[in-house]
Amino acid sequence: MSSRFFSARYADLTAYTPGEQPRQRKLIKLNTNENPFPPSPLVEARVRETVPRLNLYSDPESTALREILAERLGVRPENLIMTNGSDEALNFAFMAFCDESRPALFPDITYGFYPVFARINSLPFREIPLREDWRIAPEDYDGCGGTIFLANPNAPTGMALTLGQVERMLRSHPDSVLVVDEAYVDFGGESALGLIGRYDNLLVVRTFSKSRSLAGLRLGFAAGNEALIRDLKTMQYSTNPYNVDSLAQAAGIACLEQDEYNMENIRTVCENREWTREQLAGLGFSMTESRANFLFVSHPAFPGSTLRDRLREKGILIRWFDQERIRDWSRISIGTREQMEALVRAAEELLSGR
Ligand code: PMP
Repeated sequence: MSSRFFSARYADLTAYTPGEQPRQRKLIKLNTNENPFPPSPLVEARVRETVPRLNLYSDPESTALREILAERLGVRPENLIMTNGSDEALNFAFMAFCDESRPALFPDITYGFYPVFARINSLPFREIPLREDWRIAPEDYDGCGGTIFLANPNAPTGMALTLGQVERMLRSHPDSVLVVDEAYVDFGGESALGLIGRYDNLLVVRTFSKSRSLAGLRLGFAAGNEALIRDLKTMQYSTNPYNVDSLAQAAGIACLEQDEYNMENIRTVCENREWTREQLAGLGFSMTESRANFLFVSHPAFPGSTLRDRLREKGILIRWFDQERIRDWSRISIGTREQMEALVRAAEELLSGR
């Protein structure tokens, strides 16, 4: 319950519910799409070296990090803004590019933070239903005239639009910003980053949380036309100029300097996903065509939240969403091979009544 002083503006606000972060270390955590591998060794060393300078404020422009990231992505530093997780980049985009005449548009089944960003900023929004097979049909957005937010690959389905589909949307909505949230793109999606020079209405949002093993550090960014980035910076300097702390900037640079380490882990996660997909299919699970670091699954023997509850009893956390249309589905993050073997064993036991 809120206090008697809580602003009436937020009376109807339901906050975003993050996945559980348990104290118990023994649980196998497949519930929040983290990377199962630790950050690269260089990250630890650079963070240590940065500690003595924590008496100083961080660089509000994240200059050194933006420069190396720009070089890696083949864009200019002016095309990038670094943020406190990609959640902050998304929030800035809602603040900067939506208003009464430009509602936020996003699928009914997608990242659950989108409606919360709209509500906290008192912005109108419209949810466009995914098709029956969980597909985003780009033509469903035609004539809607707002700012479009698409997670690609989408969450929690893991399904992806092709680059051609994204480009067609950019062309058919020249007066709308299209925000493409590429949190999971490195696990098998096609990135739209290469299009930012050609479309002034494209904003690509990315994170170091998933493919770069830095979820706890809170580092993300947005890439786009210089004017769009300037608008986001206005939001940054109006809320939290030092949004990316010095440890995160140092760690981000180190992470990019040792990026082969991350690439290797991405390959392993994708292999583990395909292995798990085959095993679960053999046990009678239905699954979407996920190109992310998670699988979206359902099984006729486990209605609703039962699978989540029964796996938890066996020490494995997965994510279930209490949301219309997907109550019979669960999302399982991809971990190490050992973790996925434990998951498959647990599912076998449940199906044989053990
Ligand atoms: N976008 C999507 C689709 C996500 O699933 C997440 C992770 N919860 C985020 C953005 C935010 O990630 P972060 O703030 O850790 O970068």
